[in-house]
Amino acid sequence: ATPAATMVGSTISAKNGVLFKGGDVLERVRETDAVVFDKTGTLTEGEMQLTDVEPVERNVRADGGAVAAQAVDESFVLAVAASAESGSEHPLGEAIVRGADEHGIDLATVETFENVPGKGVEATTEHGDVLVGNRALLDDRRIDSTPATETMERLEGEGKTAMLVALDGDVIGVVATADTVRESAKATVSALHDRGYEVYMLTGDNDRTASAVAAEVGIPTERVRSEVLPDEKADVIESIQADGTRAMMVGDGVNDAPALTTAHIGVAIGSGTDVAMEAADVTLMRSDPADVLKAIRISEATLSKIR
Ligand code: ADP
Ligand code: MG
Repeated sequence: ATPAATMVGSTISAKNGVLFKGGDVLERVRETDAVVFDKTGTLTEGEMQLTDVEPVERNVRADGGAVAAQAVDESFVLAVAASAESGSEHPLGEAIVRGADEHGIDLATVETFENVPGKGVEATTEHGDVLVGNRALLDDRRIDSTPATETMERLEGEGKTAMLVALDGDVIGVVATADTVRESAKATVSALHDRGYEVYMLTGDNDRTASAVAAEVGIPTERVRSEVLPDEKADVIESIQADGTRAMMVGDGVNDAPALTTAHIGVAIGSGTDVAMEAADVTLMRSDPADVLKAIRISEATLSKIR
């Protein structure tokens, strides 16, 4: 674009809450073939609420090798999970702590805390050695998560993020959070499909939860990329772009920055992190997925007027 074209584009866009960074961005936006949305915080509000706490019977070896089931109650599961998460800055951890607070549960002292990116947290508390996170986290620590399989699958089928809670090597329960799909998400996906764009969803969340949310917004199952670790998000963009497809990646988190840079066009949602905005070519000030369509329209209109 000429400097004049860039200026016209920027002026229009600033008024609409869509900011284009630099001259060639306007032109590149209209070349997009596929739009890849991060799930949490982009298609959804990113404000998790604790929805479920479910104990899982744990088998305790009694004298003589007999196996007796020891039941734990809901408030114990929540106390164990929230205590371990009390040092967490992850939205999931914060939701668990807030939920415990709302239920008047006192937190135990934490001796050690470790954040395991894309998997969960590990902490030593007054309760013992605690893990809160996904199956991969428990698999890494050689803890059997099968006693919780049924509960996990049921909650995930409802589109919730279900997390395993383990204490001293055994699963003791499951906690789940839910997030609200943004109001304009479904209409935006449908409008993008009408205009011939491929629409993808990218998330660290598990496949069942991701598919439930994808179904809600109309993204086809074969275009859902789930259980993607933070440092793998850029690789997923690369694989989508491998056949020459030009992808627009829309995300909000620190995790998303490399993917935003790798994509043909990186779009940051305004409520997201500074890191995401720095990595992005376009910023949507209003955190509204519908503004992706607005950015495409501005790009097309501005350039056709000038030509
Ligand atoms: P996203 O890509 O959706 O932002 P993350 O990569 O941050 O997700 O996390 C992926 C998965 O790891 C979560 O869905 C959750 O199962 C688990 N996880 C991450 N952080 C935590 C935490 N603090 N507590 C429990 N589970 C967590
Ligand atoms: Mg995210």
